[in-house]
Amino acid sequence: MNHANDENHNQLEDFLPAFQVAGETLKACDCNNSHSGNLSVRDGKNLIITRTGSMLARLGAADLISTPLSSDLPPTPRTSSELPVHQVLYEKLDCAAIAHGHAIWAVLAGFVWDKLELIDVEGNYYHGAVPVVTCKPATSSPALGEALANAMSDSPVAVLRAHGVFATGDTLEQAMQRICSVNDSARLLVEAHRLGLDVVTLHRSDYLRFSQ
Ligand SMILES: [Zn+2]
Repeated sequence: MNHANDENHNQLEDFLPAFQVAGETLKACDCNNSHSGNLSVRDGKNLIITRTGSMLARLGAADLISTPLSSDLPPTPRTSSELPVHQVLYEKLDCAAIAHGHAIWAVLAGFVWDKLELIDVEGNYYHGAVPVVTCKPATSSPALGEALANAMSDSPVAVLRAHGVFATGDTLEQAMQRICSVNDSARLLVEAHRLGLDVVTLHRSDYLRFSQ
């Protein structure tokens, strides 16, 4: 291995702990299965993204790949298949990190509503209403990146119908937290709806107001 490769390897090692915490936590919070989801951070003119087929809860340095931010340049082999989406989001949005997870309660809620109007204090405090994006195909294309970027210009997190959740952040932890939090609030929303509660009224409830 030459010196240049040594330096590159060390840089990726430096990023690894933050990727591991985000990947393990998404799995622990039922926001991914064994091999779903992907993570990335902005790194100058490059982005560092998880390898296609990697297990986010068991990431090693070999699972992180540095590739150009620009889609005009050839990508490094073996990046996540969602690289085109991450590239568009970095181009269009002011963010340093992106997380994506197959958060099942958020996906389920995304079949019911076009916008998740959350009914608990945490969900309302952090997110208010979360957009649900419909895109065909719902994976791996610049067009999907554009659709998500439009929805996420006002919200750092969005549900992608029938697929999962994308979130941006200043750090991977912040992006990951947004997915976990939205998934829990989506579960409350689905269960409340199933119990026959009026979730529209609950979303407007005084319980969700904050005293100054
Ligand atoms: Zn996915």
